[in-house]
Amino acid sequence: MGRRQQRAARRSQALAFRAVALLAVGAAVATGVLMALSSHPRARAALNLRIPLLPRLLATVDDAGHVEPLGVVVPPDAARAPSWPPPLLNPEARLRWGWDLSLGRPGAREVLFTFDDGPNPGTTDRLLPMLSRAGIHAAFFVCGWRLESSEEPLRSRARQILRDIVAQGHIVGNHTVHHLVLPQLPPDRVRYEIEHNADLIEEVLGERPHLFRPPYGAYSEDVRRHLVARGNELWMWSIDPHDYLLVNNAEGVAQAVITALGNHAGGTVLLHDTHPWSVAAVPKILRWLDTENAERALSHRAPYVILDAPHYLEGARSRLPQIIAAEADASAAAAHHARDASAAEPTTGVMGEGDTDASADPGDAAAPAADRDAR
Ligand SMILES: [Zn+2]
Repeated sequence: MGRRQQRAARRSQALAFRAVALLAVGAAVATGVLMALSSHPRARAALNLRIPLLPRLLATVDDAGHVEPLGVVVPPDAARAPSWPPPLLNPEARLRWGWDLSLGRPGAREVLFTFDDGPNPGTTDRLLPMLSRAGIHAAFFVCGWRLESSEEPLRSRARQILRDIVAQGHIVGNHTVHHLVLPQLPPDRVRYEIEHNADLIEEVLGERPHLFRPPYGAYSEDVRRHLVARGNELWMWSIDPHDYLLVNNAEGVAQAVITALGNHAGGTVLLHDTHPWSVAAVPKILRWLDTENAERALSHRAPYVILDAPHYLEGARSRLPQIIAAEADASAAAAHHARDASAAEPTTGVMGEGDTDASADPGDAAAPAADRDAR
């Protein structure tokens, strides 16, 4: 065969391969939709109620044809008080689902606020009344070092603020005691950072946190195994304005969040309640949401909705079986041409240097960058 013929043969082979892959992916997504609809009557009612069906079961496909279903969220029942602690959302503590949860319902313009690294006297206590006035319930991922500080009044003020956070209807998650890069620590130090932080939170609140967010989004297989054993679960973020870089620039933080909200049609916002400029950005973001919603109402477009974090987690619980079902189906369909890619355990998040877990998750290419320099 001549070189040109060989090239043509290779090209037609590649085209046929691509066509088969596309068909398989299409079939997998369609099956996922059907399974989700047939197995979940409440989801069906909710889906028909609001935006059309297909945007809800969006999937992304990587080069190997591996499908990353984004799943379906059932709108939470706002009238019912959430149970505490809520039943597990991702009982295997898979980071992928931590990201899925943070993405929310595709295109739904739903906004969740999460605040990391506090409670910090002077900033967190200024944030709480803002959230309260706006009727917002957020999630606070807490670093416990202030709760056991030998400095006063730091220690007692931090403890009081943590009690206020829960009293005002927010939820509290574990963000380790000292905000270190977990994959770089020896296993017993990892356990200490997670469990001692949970001890400190329990000492103040009488409840152990069940949500976990690793500092910098960095974790290892050892960290994951520990979280699984403890029944913890991961909840990450999808909008990171890198507020720690925008020192004294509340307007910049607000604009970064606003731009990302527009680009992603909502999502889980990561801010640090330890920075005055991040706290000052919150009313700016809320004012923009009000103005934007007024304009959207005039042109009959769906508004942004600020979700209540505790209720969202309850609603998201019903989404996970659908993500799992669609994922299993997609993996089976993709296995024949991408056996290696679909066999990889999709748990790898943003890894710290020196980590030995090499099973990089293709889905995390789309995940937001870790706040590696955040404090
Ligand atoms: Zn942090």
